[in-house]
Amino acid sequence: MAEAQCSCGFTESEGTDETIGDHLFEAFAPDDGKGPDGKVHLEGEAALYCLCGAGGSAPELDAHWLELFTPADSVGRDGVRHERCGRFRL
Ligand SMILES: [Zn+2]
Ligand SMILES: [Zn+2]
Repeated sequence: MAEAQCSCGFTESEGTDETIGDHLFEAFAPDDGKGPDGKVHLEGEAALYCLCGAGGSAPELDAHWLELFTPADSVGRDGVRHERCGRFRL
């Protein structure tokens, strides 16, 4: 796997299940799941679909949430900048 590293220092490492996608989602997603579009984006009743209807598979759902919740400046709720570094791509 290509090294996936965040600008805050987070690195995907063997032995943990947390991927850079999980990490970025955690940094940006609000607790109530409310997106900038005013809709709530959380895993809906139907597995692998967002409450807004997007999704269909785990990667699609992750991509949807990340795209939606990642702010233009990539600064997370913790005030730290989180950006994919290195060769890893969506
Ligand atoms: Zn959604
Ligand atoms: Zn980070």
